[in-house]
Amino acid sequence: MKSFPNLSNWSLRNKLVFLIVLSSAISMLVSFSVLFGSSLRSSNNESLQQLSGISDILAENAQAALVFGDRTEAKRLLDALQEHREIQAAWILDAKGKTLAAWNRNGKVKSAPGNYKVASKQLHSDIWMKSADLYRPVVRGKERIGFILLQADFSERWSTYLANFETGLAVFALSLLVIYFLATRLQRVISQPIRDVANTARTIANDKAYDLRVPQHASDEIGDLIMAFNHMLSEIQDRDESLLRHQDRLEKEVTKRTAELARTNDELALAAKISGLGYWEYDVASREFTFNDQYYSLHFATAKQVGGYRMSYEDFAQRFVHPEDANRIGDHIRLELDSDEADFVVETEIRTQCTDGSMRWMRVRFKSLCDEQGNKYKLTGVSQDITEKKRSEETIWQQANFDPLTDLPNRRMFQDRLEQELKKSHRDKSPLALMFIDLDKFKEVNDTMGHDKGDILLVEAARRIAQCVRESDTVARIGGDEFTVILSELDDTSSVERIAQSIIDALVAPFQLDEDVAFVSASIGITLYPNDATNLEMLMSNADQAMYASKSAGRNRFSYFTHSLQEAALNRMHLINDLRSALSDDQLRLHYHPIVELDSGSIHKAEALLRWQHPERGLINPAEFVMLAEESGMIIDIGNWVFREAVQQVQRLRAIHHPEFQISVNKSPVQFRNDERHFQDWIPHLQQLGLPGQCISIEITEGLLLDATATVKSKLLDLRDAGIQVALDDFGTGYSSLSYLKKFDIDYIKIDRSFVRNLTATSNDMALCEAIIVMAHKLGLKVIAEGIETATQRHLLTAAGCDYGQGYFFSRPVPSHEFETLLKSSAS
Ligand code: C2E
Ligand code: MG
Ligand code: MG
Repeated sequence: MKSFPNLSNWSLRNKLVFLIVLSSAISMLVSFSVLFGSSLRSSNNESLQQLSGISDILAENAQAALVFGDRTEAKRLLDALQEHREIQAAWILDAKGKTLAAWNRNGKVKSAPGNYKVASKQLHSDIWMKSADLYRPVVRGKERIGFILLQADFSERWSTYLANFETGLAVFALSLLVIYFLATRLQRVISQPIRDVANTARTIANDKAYDLRVPQHASDEIGDLIMAFNHMLSEIQDRDESLLRHQDRLEKEVTKRTAELARTNDELALAAKISGLGYWEYDVASREFTFNDQYYSLHFATAKQVGGYRMSYEDFAQRFVHPEDANRIGDHIRLELDSDEADFVVETEIRTQCTDGSMRWMRVRFKSLCDEQGNKYKLTGVSQDITEKKRSEETIWQQANFDPLTDLPNRRMFQDRLEQELKKSHRDKSPLALMFIDLDKFKEVNDTMGHDKGDILLVEAARRIAQCVRESDTVARIGGDEFTVILSELDDTSSVERIAQSIIDALVAPFQLDEDVAFVSASIGITLYPNDATNLEMLMSNADQAMYASKSAGRNRFSYFTHSLQEAALNRMHLINDLRSALSDDQLRLHYHPIVELDSGSIHKAEALLRWQHPERGLINPAEFVMLAEESGMIIDIGNWVFREAVQQVQRLRAIHHPEFQISVNKSPVQFRNDERHFQDWIPHLQQLGLPGQCISIEITEGLLLDATATVKSKLLDLRDAGIQVALDDFGTGYSSLSYLKKFDIDYIKIDRSFVRNLTATSNDMALCEAIIVMAHKLGLKVIAEGIETATQRHLLTAAGCDYGQGYFFSRPVPSHEFETLLKSSAS
């Protein structure tokens, strides 16, 4: 097959030419061969028949010559063959094969060839009939009498044929040339349009020139093909143009969208920056995180420092998460991945570590994303730095729950802890003790040494108390100088006493406050759970009552809560309730206690003392209820009532007894501090009644002066400006500070009853009284001695130069009408 050319690589043009030429050549060769062969064959047959006919005639004619052996006749018969040009030699042989006559065209007679003993006529010729030998027996009757032998040569005729064949070949070659020429022309009819289509297609493929068309010259199949091709081009062109238009629209749209997207991206990035949100993703399959720049900047890191935006879970946990929270983030990721809820969003707060080594708080929110099969393949989340918020929450919590001075739990925290401890005690069935500790005389330290020193003392006191208890116990500061201790998990209650005593001992030791030394003590109240009470409020009230009992019993001691204490507390509570209606129900009275001028014995002054005519309990002294009135704020209204009542009385006494009569009223510090409303009415009230300020004197205590705020000071000044005098009550029990006497305009000093009670000529109290009197006189103040019960006391005080005296020796405090009687009798 190699010899045959591989047509598939040939151009169509060559294929066509080749096929036309080949087919034409084949058909011509076949026709030529058939024609040439058949003419050759018929010519050969003709020659042979002719030869056979000659031999037949010769055999007929030679019978006689053979029978008679007539050589001449035989020779004559052979010579006649001269006109048959193809016969070259001839022999007439007798039956025995002896030559009777021989003839040769060129005259050189040869002997007859042997082997002619053939029964019948036999022709021998070569394939191309260039020569032929004919043997012909001559038969007479049934007897063979001799043979005719003819040798023919057809070469002349063959030459003619050969010449004709060559001519035929030349014609064949010429015809092929013509056919080739025609084929090269003809192929164009088919291949040219196809080439045109191909060229056009190629140009379009290269230049996308869909407007090109293949010229159509014929309406045959190729014409149809071109038409279809051109139609297809039109279609493509239309589609191309429409695609271009569409593409153009799309490009514009894409440009617009890209710009919008870029804007949105910028806005989003800005929003993320402003919101401080760091964005991250977690690939579930690879367990890798991807972070944005903002996330890194939240951790004071950059992608460059960290080594890119991707990070394995382990790297992330180790690099960014606080070791104590590392497991939590893993737990939350599992929680999200295991959750069946479609909208489940994990929100948690974790501590992270930053590249600068600092720790920050992040609020982390994330959610899973599902693929089409519903498998969770990704988590996407945001982190927000909430460190500042956490810190302020912590500060707020700290402030809300702890005392900033001592760092101890405050009242609120204490109550929380107590509640928890109660629950625990209840569960474990173990007793619990609650202690209320109040520092005795702390107020004095604070007032005399200043608040800064007071603060130092409180901090030190807190430290000392905490040292007396176990770490598991709670020490709290619930007020100025009030501390509480919760002793939980007590094996037995005997240790409570020991602890209380150790606290007392610790607090009684001197406090070094910079260069000063201060002394305080502690009054402790103790109550036990569950013996005394089972709820928080009751326990607190019990401890308070017990502490109150310690104070009342002389301070620097501890008291257990008892039921009699509880009764007293209940009693107080009932009294407060009753007191609310005392004023409106007209149950309050004023008794008057004469203040006697010791030299002359005359009575120009009296102290108004409050009494409460209780409907069931009878007459109640102020010692029992003034404190309650102060605590409940009722003292304001009560004090106002006292003032107006006293003014009314003094107006009357001035009229009927002495024109300069003066009544003193006790004024509680609470009134000074809180009563704006009535206080301002007092002076106009006096003016309305046409009374001078001197008709009233106000008794205040030293505590008020120690604590003197600007309002207290201005109120005192107002009183002085109105001519109202001021007496310093209970002098000697407090600080007895001389500087106060100078600083405020005080008119009288009232020496406390405790100095007068045991007064003898040689007692210390006598010395003290004399000192107070001398000092007061030096400062231009008058002195009133309280609680004079005996004549001795009166004489001693008179001798010491005391100006006025007050006491049961002269009279008990009495109602107004009795007081008037008393004045009358004294005047007479
Ligand atoms: P105070 O101002 O020191 O009043 C003197 C108290 O000593 C009165 O008691 C009086 O009855 C009592 N007293 C006077 N002389 C003697 C005596 O020789 N022996 C004894 N054992 N006691 C004597 P009272 O009336 O029970 O008053 C007690 C305190 O109640 C007063 O002490 C005063 O601080 C307060 N108080 C009385 N009335 C009022 C009032 O109207 N307003 C305010 N805020 N407090 C008042
Ligand atoms: Mg008084
Ligand atoms: Mg007094």
